Amino acid sequence: MRGVVCHHTAGRDDMHVIRDGRPGLDGPLSQFWLRRDGTIFVVAAGLCWHNAPSTSANHTNSASIGIEAENDGRQPWPGVQLHSFRKLCAELTKEFDLPVSRVVGHKEVQRGKPDPHGVNMDTFRVQVARLMTEVTEPPKPTLGGVPEFRRTLRLVSPLIEGQDVRTWQTAARRFVPGLVADGCYGPASKKACEQVQRTVGAPVNGKVSAETWLLTWVWESGAKKEKKA
Ligand SMILES: [Zn+2]
Repeated sequence: MRGVVCHHTAGRDDMHVIRDGRPGLDGPLSQFWLRRDGTIFVVAAGLCWHNAPSTSANHTNSASIGIEAENDGRQPWPGVQLHSFRKLCAELTKEFDLPVSRVVGHKEVQRGKPDPHGVNMDTFRVQVARLMTEVTEPPKPTLGGVPEFRRTLRLVSPLIEGQDVRTWQTAARRFVPGLVADGCYGPASKKACEQVQRTVGAPVNGKVSAETWLLTWVWESGAKKEKKA
């Protein structure tokens, strides 16, 4: 193990592609799949087909670990996903005793590759290096500060009401300052939900699903800054 290569999958909900491969390229395509909510999945051990031909001897398929992060190639990155991306890279470099310079983007070690899109890898490595020096804490059972998700909030008749609606509305005001937290999921809430989803890069459907619920709390504006960098 001499390197780590960061990718985007160019699809959505596509762990099966990473595991099984696609026409013309058998799986597994990488060892890790990183979901948009920041959850890390170990897909495979051993040789995976994520970078060939490599322009770096330390990042060939047989010398490196691949991380495929769920992103269709245009979506903004949720902060929670980028954070997991960096944390995983930091853990791998510590585990295999590698310098942070061995963490690279696919676009840096194969000509013509765009991934991971919008991520400035120099900035990314600085952030990974910072995490490498942090003391590793035991995993927490729940993400800090995220209330429990109980039901999907959506515009129906009669309107969905409750404390959970009020809780979500209060958090959504970070994205839509004018939203009134009246505990009632009406048209204004649906519109606000769509605004949140557009901002965090979730599918825009006006329904507060588990994913939207989570991203409303954990999305960091850092994702936007990184894109511009
Ligand atoms: Zn790639």
